[in-house]
Amino acid sequence: MSAMGNVLAAGVIGVGYLGRFHAQKYARMPGVRLGGVADLNPERARRVAEELGVAAVADFQALLSEVDLVSVVTPTQSHAAVVEACLLAGVHVMVEKPMTVTLEEARTLIELAERQQRVLQVGHIKRFHPTVRALQASGLLGEPRFIECHRLAPFKNRALDVDVVLDLMIHDVDLILHFVRSRVVDVEAVGAEVVTGRVDIAHARLKFANGCIAHVAASRLAHEARRQTRIFQTDAMIELDFSEQTVMVRRRGPGEMVLDGVRLPAIVESRLPVPRNDPLEEELRSFVGAVRGEHPPEVSGSDGYAALEVVTAIRREIDAFTRDIRV
Ligand code: NAD
Repeated sequence: MSAMGNVLAAGVIGVGYLGRFHAQKYARMPGVRLGGVADLNPERARRVAEELGVAAVADFQALLSEVDLVSVVTPTQSHAAVVEACLLAGVHVMVEKPMTVTLEEARTLIELAERQQRVLQVGHIKRFHPTVRALQASGLLGEPRFIECHRLAPFKNRALDVDVVLDLMIHDVDLILHFVRSRVVDVEAVGAEVVTGRVDIAHARLKFANGCIAHVAASRLAHEARRQTRIFQTDAMIELDFSEQTVMVRRRGPGEMVLDGVRLPAIVESRLPVPRNDPLEEELRSFVGAVRGEHPPEVSGSDGYAALEVVTAIRREIDAFTRDIRV
């Protein structure tokens, strides 16, 4: 292990689209030294390593004796094997979402991290989004009765090795589980394969033991991006817009208002202050804090598992639905 004094050595495994940003954040983080980057594609590894003035390796195993912690930012299908090797080598791991493809793989990693007493954090980055931070700081989040999420993205040549549920919908599923804090008792879902040979558009409905209902829509074939979550509580309706970075709150005010000739309880609209932040930087700082033992990981392996469990149920429902259509 290479901790020099109080400085932690970080590595990044997989420096494609997202991994390069992880490497940049570690390179600039106080108390952290970027120890090296690894990518199966030597040209990619070399380019990012050169940009940041560190060593590049093709085989990530060569990095493990040089670092205290790593980000695993390889395609999802490879997370289980790569993270397992890192934990076995005694390295703390921040793994991108979804943590694995299967629940069994996720369980194995959680148990291994516990045995090895290493931090395992999962990259559900929306927890660090300025709107979610603002909502939490406001103290307004109570007991949601209904949640409605839209995560509609224009088509991009990225993450096509997985369906839209594993790629996009999992962000909202993680947030919903974080907001509702009750057990999911029922999952209904439909979806369609349109152009990629995997499900590109999906709708799911989650029912919770406490009566809350969440409706989640995800698409990677949208004409225009839309990333919004509406939370309905008995005392307020809260709307998070992830693209605009705004949080709008509508609450019952004193007295009445007249809407289209009808007398209704008055509604008072306000906007929460949303301080700008860099979610990836916050996420990785939080991971480093957890490695230093300052706090538990903000998004633990168990959180990653919980999101994956619901997403697996959603995918199973969609699979059954599309199979019914085919026969
Ligand atoms: P990418 O294809 O751009 O990059 C992946 C890189 O990993 C490639 O350069 C590839 O050569 C390398 N690689 C593959 N197997 C490897 C191995 N065994 N060892 C070393 N390198 C290896 O993919 P991406 O878009 O950066 O996505 C990577 C991961 O990040 C995925 O799990 C994806 O779901 C996740 N992701 C998360 C978010 C988010 O919002 N949190 C956004 C984008 C991607």
